[in-house]
Amino acid sequence: MKKVLVIGAGFAGLRACKLLAKSKQDLEVTLVDRTPYHYDSTQLYRVAAGSIAPEKIMFRIEDIISPKIKFIQDEVQVINGKQNTVTLANHGDISYDYLFNALGFEPETFNTPGADTDGLQISNIENSSRDAKALQDSLAKYAQTKDPKYLSILTVGGGFTSIELLGELVHMVPTWAKKYGFQPNELKITCVAPAFLGMFNEKQSTYAKRYLEKKGVNFILGSNVNKVTDDGVYYGQDNQFLPAANIFWTAGVKGSDVIAASGYDQHRNRVAVNDDMSLQAYPNQYLIGDVSAVKDPTSGQMYPTTAQISIYEASNAVANLENKLAGKSVAPFNYHSLGTVCSLGPHNAVADVSMLGLNVKINGFIAAVVKNIIFKRSSYELSGLKMMLQS
Ligand SMILES: Cc1cc2nc3c(=O)[nH]c(=O)nc-3n(C[C@H](O)[C@H](O)[C@H](O)COP(=O)(O)OP(=O)(O)OC[C@H]3O[C@@H](n4cnc5c(N)ncnc54)[C@H](O)[C@@H]3O)c2cc1C
Repeated sequence: MKKVLVIGAGFAGLRACKLLAKSKQDLEVTLVDRTPYHYDSTQLYRVAAGSIAPEKIMFRIEDIISPKIKFIQDEVQVINGKQNTVTLANHGDISYDYLFNALGFEPETFNTPGADTDGLQISNIENSSRDAKALQDSLAKYAQTKDPKYLSILTVGGGFTSIELLGELVHMVPTWAKKYGFQPNELKITCVAPAFLGMFNEKQSTYAKRYLEKKGVNFILGSNVNKVTDDGVYYGQDNQFLPAANIFWTAGVKGSDVIAASGYDQHRNRVAVNDDMSLQAYPNQYLIGDVSAVKDPTSGQMYPTTAQISIYEASNAVANLENKLAGKSVAPFNYHSLGTVCSLGPHNAVADVSMLGLNVKINGFIAAVVKNIIFKRSSYELSGLKMMLQS
């Protein structure tokens, strides 16, 4: 019997577990995660905005994995590749014959002072729930003091997380205005970023930007944030100060810090993998999801890290372990993106998707419906019908 250890119960880790549980090989599979629940990280911006309860995107791991898999709740501290062990904070060293490393992403601050201490991060249930509370506390302080400084929100970055968050925030404004006693246009929402939604074409990104501007968002584009403080940010070449009570640091992500701590040859905690998702240095380790770096043969660039490719990588890695154990050759990495949908709140989105072999670009309510179908489908695949209907 071979010991297979999966670390991380995100999209990649859970897909690997699902397939490993069905394997005809003689495997003893153990899954480790720091929390007892899986969370749908693509929905964290909604938790941070306070528009959805965290429980709606959380699934108890032991309810959704096969009973054949042993689950250990613990923090992975370091991977000891030469010893074939992983050190856990409470359970000590645990050995493996094959490792599936799916430890996922963390916020990338690009060494910006104050980004991690004074910025609100969106990378897990804890920090996203804290963000929602901080925002509510700020609005409640306005209600008590009538000091307009509390009516200000700033997002840093023009990528997916920042834009999806802005869509959700503008949707919440009328509710907050009523609850905390202000006019909707008194809440100042600003986004500072070098660029806006670069993964869409100009027409679609202009649609998204105009929609958010119409809802009151002020964009300061072409600028980086240089420093975050507890009452604002310094930005741009002349280092101007912009006051804000609630500053969301949504400028990018990197792979898990365990990657650097374990001495891998990495860039931003991502490691280049072979065609079968294994490592050159340690062929019994598969890196899947946001900790891996895979080159798109068409563009020559690394694929962007997404839930979609994480799931594909996990399937590819498990198929290749099976091939290895059966003495068969490597199944090539042959990924085709199904497209991208960026939410602009519950009733609006921009979508650039592949359907029936065609590339389809949709803006507006239908795109929001597509986004919701993707979310429901992902919940169903993870946890079955009952939990999908709850979410
Ligand atoms: C706001 C937001 C919106 C997004 N929207 C989309 C979208 O629409 N479509 C899309 O395809 N992608 C989207 N993404 C990207 C997507 O969420 C990630 O690419 C995906 O979650 C990566 O999956 P993963 O399994 O690699 O890691 P993760 O989902 O990050 O899971 C990692 C798991 O490892 C656990 N873990 C981490 N460190 C440790 C440790 N040291 N010890 C023990 N356990 C640990 C965590 O608890 C977690 O369960 C979005 C991301 C964000 C932040």
